[in-house]
Amino acid sequence: MTELTMTGPIKTDRPALTLYLADPRGFCAGVVRAIEIVEMAIEKWGAPVYVRHEIVHNQHVVDGLRAKGAVFVEDLDDCPDDRPVVFSAHGVPKSVPAEAERRNMIYVDATCPLVWKVHVEAERHFQNGRQIIMIGHSGHPETVGTMGQLPAGEVILVETVEDVARIAPRDPERLAYITQTTLSVDDTADVVAALMARFSGIIGPHRKDICYATTNRQQAVKAMAPRIDALLVVGAPNSSNSRRLVEVGRAAGCPYAMLVQTAADIDWRAIEGVRAVGLTAGASAPEVLVDQVIAAFHDRYEVTIERIVTAEEHVSFKVPRVLRVDA
Ligand code: SF4
Repeated sequence: MTELTMTGPIKTDRPALTLYLADPRGFCAGVVRAIEIVEMAIEKWGAPVYVRHEIVHNQHVVDGLRAKGAVFVEDLDDCPDDRPVVFSAHGVPKSVPAEAERRNMIYVDATCPLVWKVHVEAERHFQNGRQIIMIGHSGHPETVGTMGQLPAGEVILVETVEDVARIAPRDPERLAYITQTTLSVDDTADVVAALMARFSGIIGPHRKDICYATTNRQQAVKAMAPRIDALLVVGAPNSSNSRRLVEVGRAAGCPYAMLVQTAADIDWRAIEGVRAVGLTAGASAPEVLVDQVIAAFHDRYEVTIERIVTAEEHVSFKVPRVLRVDA
């Protein structure tokens, strides 16, 4: 409180600060579609609509949908047979829709089409007799969902270059790799290089699995890094792509890079004296939270806003047919 009084908006001698806004930032097409799916499902079937796992990793989004009638559960066992259930944007193992079908449930799969593309790749490699190495984070729902497309043992998970040295595939000549969509582009390139060095016959995706939104948001952070003394990433601690943005900022030389869920998380003391701050948001963070961070800076500084534009995005995905009016 004391700090607010000292640096509040009524003072005219607020320090100058340039706020660099990453562009693109925030919501990706997969997140927009997943939120739309839950909203349309509630509209079509009424509340409650069950959602297996957080539809996207953001508390603000989850709370908003809960207020409209969504019920979030971690397991299909927690859903009644007679209510619709939506599967999250991260994707689910094949066993989940199979179980929903067995119980005659209405279900809508909100798996992002770009995650689904990786599922199809995995299936294709499996059909061609290749064992698959997945680069991803252990326990992340997307990794669990992708590995769950194939029988146990057909997908080996690696997280680091060190893991590549440790694995023992069935036949080193018959391998393919896939990746989680939200990894660090640079770290993943190192792991892929290690895989190629150890397994010369390994094949990879035609176009890399890390999605356009992850790539573009990381690129914007790299572009702003030389100009800023501090980076704030609006996002949730369980959001993979948001956490990668913090890491990318640090790797690009930014001395202070921090994840904040809302403006209330900003450690003003830690950035005292800083005059150039970068601001971005993970793919599951709504713009309203970014606006609140900008407003908090305006309360304390004479702010100049500069946009760092590194890409234009025009991607959108249709919702499943069952939810479309013309279906
Ligand atoms: S981050 Fe990429 S893969 Fe994940 S939901 Fe967004 S567009 Fe899809």
